[in-house]
Amino acid sequence: MIGDNTDLTSIIRREAFRLGFLDCGFSRVKPLLEIENSYHAWLAKGYHAGMDYMARNNDKRLDPSLLVPGAKSVISLLYNYYPSQEISSPLIVAKYAYGEDYHDVVKGKLFQLDAFIRISNDDAEQRCFVDSAPVLERFWAQNSGLGWMGKNSCLISRKHGSFFFIAEIITSLELQYDEPFARDYCGTCQRCIEACPTGAITPNRTVDSNRCISYQTIENKSEIPTELEGKFQNRIFGCDICQDVCPWNRKVKPHSEPSFLPNEKLRSMTSADWQNLDKDTFRQLFRKSAVKRAKYAGLKRNIDFVKGD
Ligand code: SF4
Ligand code: SF4
Repeated sequence: MIGDNTDLTSIIRREAFRLGFLDCGFSRVKPLLEIENSYHAWLAKGYHAGMDYMARNNDKRLDPSLLVPGAKSVISLLYNYYPSQEISSPLIVAKYAYGEDYHDVVKGKLFQLDAFIRISNDDAEQRCFVDSAPVLERFWAQNSGLGWMGKNSCLISRKHGSFFFIAEIITSLELQYDEPFARDYCGTCQRCIEACPTGAITPNRTVDSNRCISYQTIENKSEIPTELEGKFQNRIFGCDICQDVCPWNRKVKPHSEPSFLPNEKLRSMTSADWQNLDKDTFRQLFRKSAVKRAKYAGLKRNIDFVKGD
């Protein structure tokens, strides 16, 4: 065991920064009674659309000790994906999907941090998560002092904006905990709400996935509702609009992660290339990318859908 809780916490934080994480914060594990009602209300309104998995495993989602036996702490981590340059292709892919699949890249970093912690705590029960299990990651990040929940429902950091992935290690180790982030720096700003082309942002800092371009272009496996026609602003995989307009993203620094650099072919896609995209090119372009999640048929559907935008 490395020293006491305070020592261990600062050693983990230091290693997280060394591995390239933007920020790192610590929360004590507890059942999330304070958000249970609002989460159920979001589900009851059907805002999770076709993401049935959001309605499953709610006992685990609301109590991480059911995910990791003996869990005492959540280590929340941010990993930057803000690109130094936008791809100027006529059809738009969300920034987080420019390079290699974040699940693999960020998980690789998390596993390194996990192994580092285990060197001196080999009996720790712990698991790594990146958007892969029922973990309310934005809540834990806020609780770990990393930022607040913006009106666009993203976690926003005063220093780092919102173009980052959130990851967690849930561990049985006792650590030193940060104060939850209590302020709301959105103030009277409404930019994200006004800029969202489909009116998906609801008044209580949630998003109605049924109307969200991100959901429709990635998660929705059936037809895109015709009422959304002409509103996608050429977005064919994900959507950054409500983050692009956020003043807290004005001065964010680009990432330095080589795996997130886009390949040359993606950079130079023309309108005709997108329209003529065949299965082989799709496979080559997105072999290692999160875009493969939409599958070839899904991306083709999206390309057709934005034809009239
Ligand atoms: S991601 Fe796009 S569609 Fe979804 S809430 Fe933000 S601006 Fe609206
Ligand atoms: S655009 Fe304005 S209201 Fe929306 S999340 Fe950013 S600061 Fe908050």
